Amino acid sequence: MKGLLTSILLVSGVSVAAALFFSEFNVGFWKTFIFITLIQIVAWNVYTAYQKAKIIRAQQEIEKEYVQSLSKQQVQVPCAACNHMQVHLVDLNSDNKFECEACNQKNALYINIETAAMTVVEDVKTR
Ligand SMILES: [Zn+2]
Repeated sequence: MKGLLTSILLVSGVSVAAALFFSEFNVGFWKTFIFITLIQIVAWNVYTAYQKAKIIRAQQEIEKEYVQSLSKQQVQVPCAACNHMQVHLVDLNSDNKFECEACNQKNALYINIETAAMTVVEDVKTR
């Protein structure tokens, strides 16, 4: 409420100043006052719309990076040529290739997902 009052006072103040200035050049006070007030309201709305669009764009960018980071995982893998162990990012959504840090050999990284039946602990206890 205080902020709104301050805004109204500021807008009126600017409009009064402009109206007083232009009345020196025989332009009607209220004409200038209303015109300057409207310009300020329109400019303010354009500015806030621009700010909102900027925030939404930033949020979308953060979400995009988050989704991308979810699909990446660091793994330690050996080079197929020299067995040098190194850490690389694994991306589940695309082909994974890397160049060996030690011998510069190009490697392809294949992901093999397996399933295994789990032993339920309670079964073991009852036996
Ligand atoms: Zn190597």
